[in-house]
Amino acid sequence: MARAVLIRLCFMLALVGLLTGLGAARAEPMQAGAMRIGIHPDRTRFVVELPGPVEFQAFTQAEPYRVVLDLADIKVTRPLPPPGGLIGGVQLDGVSGPGSRLLLDTKGPFKVAAIAIYPPSAGLPHRLVLDLVEVAAAGFVAKPPPNRLSPREAGRAPAATNAPRPPAAKRPTAKPVIVLDPGHGGVDPGTVGVGGMHEKDLVLDYALELRRRLERTGRYRVVMTRERDIFLRLSERVDVARKTNAQLFISLHADSIGSAEFRGGAVYTLSETASDEEAAALAAKENKADLLGGVPLDDRDNQVTSILIDLAQRETMNYSARFTNLLLPELAERNVAMRPKPHRFAGFRVLKAPDVPSVLLELGYLSNRQDAQFVTSAAGRAAIVAAVVEAIDRYFTEKRN
Ligand SMILES: [Zn+2]
Repeated sequence: MARAVLIRLCFMLALVGLLTGLGAARAEPMQAGAMRIGIHPDRTRFVVELPGPVEFQAFTQAEPYRVVLDLADIKVTRPLPPPGGLIGGVQLDGVSGPGSRLLLDTKGPFKVAAIAIYPPSAGLPHRLVLDLVEVAAAGFVAKPPPNRLSPREAGRAPAATNAPRPPAAKRPTAKPVIVLDPGHGGVDPGTVGVGGMHEKDLVLDYALELRRRLERTGRYRVVMTRERDIFLRLSERVDVARKTNAQLFISLHADSIGSAEFRGGAVYTLSETASDEEAAALAAKENKADLLGGVPLDDRDNQVTSILIDLAQRETMNYSARFTNLLLPELAERNVAMRPKPHRFAGFRVLKAPDVPSVLLELGYLSNRQDAQFVTSAAGRAAIVAAVVEAIDRYFTEKRN
């Protein structure tokens, strides 16, 4: 039985002025430019040059294995690129209306590692870039590609997102991308500590310092989900990790609780089942951040649930745990107070990028005087930041070897 449509992807970019301007005067549909297939050690890349940002949808099928790519309002003309890498053939399928449908047959099961429209750069026009990675048959499952944006969000650029990177082929020595995510911001202050310290300000300060320290090594590219006091929805934070092809995502938080004696930091990774009630309560509290910003929960949560059972997600979770196992001893070595069981699990929405190992670091309890004093002190910040930098170095050294 054919595996039916797995992915529906819709991508509309702003530039309404440009499109409506063209649309009003245009009798003929716009033409797509050159197409090509790039073969890289870890992926096969399909590229279509475009006259501008266009709406597109992508689906995947299992029998035969293929990606169906629909481009709205664009005529794709021959020649079609010859097969290459994982792509066994490219066909043009007729569709009614002004759009085009491309069928990319693959030589076996695959996953869509990335799909996005890149803006013009280095003399190249707008182009749609689709990256496919070979997987085992069991790994071919329903999964939205990492660069997915809902039409609702696509019109506004996430505040702290960098422009998409040019194709990896041009950056053979690309540094690993690390996304730092200071929790909360704007209308959402997070928790308020004993000295009146707002969690959102504390974690931004940590993230900025961590960025400085990581950039100083020259080994990483650091992207911040926010670098100012602004509100970001949780899915926007996850999208930053996906769009930058991040190799590590670190969300920074600090907690507070009714009992002033409670103290110690913790590192959380994603799990369908929380490690205990307190972990579940914390995740529920953090997941409510969107409501504070007046953002309704979107349909993405349902898709995320299905992602959770997927093998790729499990592999990502293993890497998240591996990073946690490197980070905890570094924190302990620097006398950072930690919870008795410092590696904890819960369903934090912000940790749900399927392809990006992600952890959430709780610096400590702002409701506890000692913790609040430690994490707001220069020495405390230096200790925690140094521990994270060391753990990142170890993590990427291990990955290379
Ligand atoms: Zn928080």
